[in-house]
Amino acid sequence: MQNFFQDLKDNLVNQYYECPAYKLICDNQGFNPSINLNSEKDIEQVPFVTTTLFKKSAEIFTDLLRVPLDKIDKWTMSSSTSGDPSIVGRSATDLVQIKKFMDKNVSEYDCVFYPEPEVMKRLRSQMVHGKPTESYIGNILDMYEFNDNAVFLLEADGEELNINLDAFETFLREHNNLEHHVSIKGSTILLYNTINLLKEKIRPVNLGKNTIVQTGGGGWDGKKGSLSVGTTLKRQDFVEEISSFLGIPEENFIDSYSFTENSFPISGHYSKEYKDYLFHIPEYGKVIIRDIKTLKSLYNPGDRGFIQMLNAYGTSAFAGASILVDDIGEIVSMDKCPDCGQRVMTIKLIGRVKGAEAKGCGATLNVKEEK
Ligand SMILES: [Zn+2]
Repeated sequence: MQNFFQDLKDNLVNQYYECPAYKLICDNQGFNPSINLNSEKDIEQVPFVTTTLFKKSAEIFTDLLRVPLDKIDKWTMSSSTSGDPSIVGRSATDLVQIKKFMDKNVSEYDCVFYPEPEVMKRLRSQMVHGKPTESYIGNILDMYEFNDNAVFLLEADGEELNINLDAFETFLREHNNLEHHVSIKGSTILLYNTINLLKEKIRPVNLGKNTIVQTGGGGWDGKKGSLSVGTTLKRQDFVEEISSFLGIPEENFIDSYSFTENSFPISGHYSKEYKDYLFHIPEYGKVIIRDIKTLKSLYNPGDRGFIQMLNAYGTSAFAGASILVDDIGEIVSMDKCPDCGQRVMTIKLIGRVKGAEAKGCGATLNVKEEK
């Protein structure tokens, strides 16, 4: 990274010339990044591609490439609740770039609520234009440097995943009352459901102050793929219940947010005061929150809207430099995390737009109402 603004501009200018579909979007809005993007203030004018355009059913994901089809290394695919995943073409170098942005907190013992990365990558793979798709989460998982002793609790059984509850119980027994440096990683819903099952079977444990719980991949709306908890999962309930059952301080809970069309994951630490995760926007990326009806950029604490992510890096193969996602974020502060004091834009994640809200923005985003 040299200078974020200059690097973002370079990325957008290249995307404009390499991807005719993006050029069309820009030309329709009278915006040419090489002419109209001259200062930080101009960034809010940068046209975006909505994540819905990457859906398989939209049938234009090949038009959103910046390189010829035979130059991409793989298709990365979202896990989809609706059966209509996003498909994003990527080069190996773009994936290496994402890895550089990931938190490198190494733990001595990992317990993972996912299958092994290679298994996760191949789950529900499809052939698309002669190349197999790979799970995006599987690719992210593959970027962690797990110890050899890492325990992966999910096993693939055909297209489905089964959890090995006994292995988790054994893991908890082995680390109980020892204050080991443990990391419990993975799917929010699976961890939550598993703890609820275990509550019926065993007494609470005490993993202690050196254990972190690092979730990712969403699921707060109560479902993820074929998994469900029936209702919305409140972050406060999740943290408080798991913290007390496993004996882990609430401040050791971290959530990460990324989606298939984006290139820098953001992570949030749980705040006891806010009873929510506070996400820091790192210096190598930019986030704009946009009103869900007018799409105007918002700047005040408490403002809620769609999340636009501006990527200066890691989108050389696809039109991912400026992406608008149909998740709703809330601005906590434009310049400082009120909980830990770090000088960064801080947001909360509210969830996905649906129902009546979705109708209001359907014309611009083509958001389908969830059944
Ligand atoms: Zn903070």
